[in-house]
Amino acid sequence: MPTYQYACTACSHEFEAIQSFSDNSLTSCPECSGEIRKIYSAVGVVFKGSGFYKTDSVAKKTTGESTTPAPTTPAPTAPAPTAPAASTSKVD
Ligand SMILES: [Zn+2]
Repeated sequence: MPTYQYACTACSHEFEAIQSFSDNSLTSCPECSGEIRKIYSAVGVVFKGSGFYKTDSVAKKTTGESTTPAPTTPAPTAPAPTAPAASTSKVD
């Protein structure tokens, strides 16, 4: 159930109301029955979500690039020990 925060435009009374999306929005202040408005500060949670996605994709990209040149380094090291073996067979 989403929690909505309201503020009264008449007396500045702030309060929270738990409602489902199908429920009608509150329209009057419980303190003075004045006009109220929704406070959308709760939407800040969405910022967190999008931030995670951004960081995630950037990290993935960086990891992929650094991983590509890694297997190229051990490649020239492999034929090195093969050299003395060949020379030995030559002498023999
Ligand atoms: Zn009020």
